[in-house]
Amino acid sequence: MQLKTVLLVFYVIQILFSLVMKYLSYQGDVSSELHDQILKYFTQEDIQKGIEYSRGGFFASILFDLLDFVIAGLFVFSPFAVRLEDALQKKTGNRFYITVLLFFLIYSMIQLIVSIPFQYYFGFVLEHQFGFSKMTFLDWMVYTGKSLGLGILGGSIGALGIAFLFKKFQKTWKFLVPIISLLFGLLLSILFPIVITPLFYEYQPIEEGSLKKKIVSLCESAKIQVENVYVINESKYSGHTNAYFTGWGEHRKIFLYDTLIQNHSEEEIISVLGHEIGHWTHNHQIIDIAISTLEIFLLCFAVSFLFQKAKSEGAIHLKEFYSPSSLPFLFLILSLFGSLTKPVWSTLSRFHETQADREALILTKDKKSFISTEIKLAKDNRSRLNPHPAEVIYSHSHPTTLERIRFAEKYEFLK
Ligand SMILES: [Zn+2]
Repeated sequence: MQLKTVLLVFYVIQILFSLVMKYLSYQGDVSSELHDQILKYFTQEDIQKGIEYSRGGFFASILFDLLDFVIAGLFVFSPFAVRLEDALQKKTGNRFYITVLLFFLIYSMIQLIVSIPFQYYFGFVLEHQFGFSKMTFLDWMVYTGKSLGLGILGGSIGALGIAFLFKKFQKTWKFLVPIISLLFGLLLSILFPIVITPLFYEYQPIEEGSLKKKIVSLCESAKIQVENVYVINESKYSGHTNAYFTGWGEHRKIFLYDTLIQNHSEEEIISVLGHEIGHWTHNHQIIDIAISTLEIFLLCFAVSFLFQKAKSEGAIHLKEFYSPSSLPFLFLILSLFGSLTKPVWSTLSRFHETQADREALILTKDKKSFISTEIKLAKDNRSRLNPHPAEVIYSHSHPTTLERIRFAEKYEFLK
């Protein structure tokens, strides 16, 4: 069978699969046994609120997926991309990097024009409807403008860098891309809190007081060094709560959303931080980076092989591997590959989350706060309490709220 046919089949299966998953996710798990278990910790109203929030924008999200599908298909399976590149080449007098840049910008613009109304609907209209967003329209415009600007700037630099590697290192790029993306990932994890976070948020060091003392003693008992603890003004944007660690070694910083501090007791905040410390002590970030570097390495070989095969068959319109018009083909392969590896990544992530939960329990020896945190977080974020098991396996990064509560209930401390 021709590669074009195989790709077309996978491409259609991918969209059908995503529709099936959407349907299952809409349905959720309707077993009455689960329902009774949830009612031990939550009310019927909590369940209903989670269902409503997870179902919000159901048809819009299907429409968006279909549009995305059509655009990707148009670029890969029609001569459109090659014709666009030819036209740009003529306009730029065959200047390679300017052609790459213009092609990338046009490609991004087309996707942007399609996605903006959906971003507005999901990020502004629905978030307001469910009482999360506190942004004014102007706030939303500024926030979205900044993220898009940053995305286009980063994407353009990325596209030019990739084109350069593909063209200059036609034999060795398969080794260079994983190494460079590894270094880039590490650099970004250092720069993110210093450069990117301040673009979107205001934050300041946590006030002196009993919470700070508890945080310091928690870090001491976990034997991890922390440079400072910051409070981020998420409440300006939404009611969602979160806490995370960034940086490496002694430059490690803790960021707490002010929403977390407003809605939770000090013991509950300590429980959340205990979980975050668990991610560090189990080296989850390093494991993720190592696996994704290996994945990128394998992907480079797969993409290169598939490109050569498709080009030699001639059924898909392709120029050189480094030509900008090859970009949509590469994205399609990456997206197909991503659909296949997604459940593996989600399963690994759920495993890590359970490890971090265990660490939180060991560090705090406080089941009660762990469980009350889970209950509050689920209520505050309108979590779906009865998600469909297939959806959990395929795409959830965390175990369900009920699974996490039951894990804590059953956990036995070593004497
Ligand atoms: Zn976690």
